[in-house]
Amino acid sequence: MSDQPQEITQDMVVVGGGLAGLTMALTLKRAFSGALKVTLVDPHGLDPLPVSGRAYALAAGACKMFEALGVWDKIEAEAQAIERMVITDSRLAEPVRPVFLTFDQSPQSDQPYAYMIEQDHLLRVLQEALRLTDLTVVKTRAGHVETLPHAAVVALEDGQSVTTKVVIACDGARSPLRQAAGIGMVMHAYDQSGIVATLGLERDHHGVAEEHFLPSGPFATLPLKRKRCSIVWTERNDRVKHYVSLSQEEFVAEIEHRFGLRYGTITLLDQPRAYPLRVGIARHFVKPRLALVGDAAHVVHPISGQGLNLGLRDVAALAETLIQALRLGLDAGRLQVLQEYETARRFDTLVMAGLTDTLNRLFSNDLTPIRLMRDLGLGVVDRMPALKDLLIREAAIRNPAAPKLMQGIIP
Ligand SMILES: Cc1cc2nc3c(=O)[nH]c(=O)nc-3n(C[C@H](O)[C@H](O)[C@H](O)COP(=O)(O)OP(=O)(O)OC[C@H]3O[C@@H](n4cnc5c(N)ncnc54)[C@H](O)[C@@H]3O)c2cc1C
Repeated sequence: MSDQPQEITQDMVVVGGGLAGLTMALTLKRAFSGALKVTLVDPHGLDPLPVSGRAYALAAGACKMFEALGVWDKIEAEAQAIERMVITDSRLAEPVRPVFLTFDQSPQSDQPYAYMIEQDHLLRVLQEALRLTDLTVVKTRAGHVETLPHAAVVALEDGQSVTTKVVIACDGARSPLRQAAGIGMVMHAYDQSGIVATLGLERDHHGVAEEHFLPSGPFATLPLKRKRCSIVWTERNDRVKHYVSLSQEEFVAEIEHRFGLRYGTITLLDQPRAYPLRVGIARHFVKPRLALVGDAAHVVHPISGQGLNLGLRDVAALAETLIQALRLGLDAGRLQVLQEYETARRFDTLVMAGLTDTLNRLFSNDLTPIRLMRDLGLGVVDRMPALKDLLIREAAIRNPAAPKLMQGIIP
């Protein structure tokens, strides 16, 4: 691995070294056994990042993908299987949180629904794997992309530029490259933020994930290794500042109020952080020689923990499109080629954005008729094993039409 670009001509440039960008770069390196010249542009390069306290539920397809990329063993060492999901619906002041829906691991399957993994570990594993490749890493920001008939030129903040066939923008929700390319985003900001923190538990969680639907939004506890859990606490914006500035004792008392005392004494292990929540989809995912991936293309409410999973599905679909085109000797940056990726991803993204938005609107309110309807709905689903199985299969993306990488095969 070299730290500065030795040449200005590269086959592919990945902009953004978050989880989507690192996975994209690793996929391209693995697919051509290193023969493809790939540059990663990110201000941090492959340096260790500050502790984030974030954790994700990786669906089955994402785990298969990391298996194919040869990094699952290392990820799994710190991954906590979700063995059971419990969903409740109640008001904050109510003394008990009645259970309306439970998902137990299907006896026919040897796979849990998902694995919880901390962002910092996942980033570390991907960075380590990439350090062993000849990936070119440029530690700066990309500014904009100039499109020429047969190439694109990425202008970098340090004054350099990289000429390439395809630019893959994995530069996050604010995506400077998307904005510079003039691609609009249909966006709605929720009056909610997600407060994220890691808790230590006195008693084991036995792999149980819980989602408590409260009037201000869902409060999720997601199991982590070593008797810990990650919380994603959705709260109205006008109260968030108050909650994140509470003392440790006061914060833990608020958690216990929502979560109960069944896991014994709770300890706060890091500083709670709040993330404003939005739903948004880019008007286009591609332009000639430019493809948007991950949060650069879409952001969704974390109510069902799908944002990163969507981004990884983008990586799998785009990698398949690019690799097929290159193997056929085609120019992979042509709009017609990149549009195959957009077509493959548009529907799934729209469905997920719509679903998470509807769930959030349905559950983040205290109107009695809506509460009755949704509780009836959850209760019906809970009594229908076949329907639950279907929901689980959907959640776990065990879908033969999924991109090859999601089925554990390098395309
Ligand atoms: C509270 C909360 C909980 C969540 N929980 C889950 C969950 O359980 N499961 C799940 O699947 N998803 C979850 N998500 C969504 C998930 O966090 C995101 O979808 C995911 O992190 C996006 O990854 P990314 O790589 O696309 O973008 P980012 O992580 O934002 O990475 C963008 C990268 O681009 C770089 N960059 C930016 N600008 C430039 C530039 N000009 N030049 C070069 N580099 C640049 C940045 O340095 C960064 O490294 C959650 C989100 C929130 C807010």
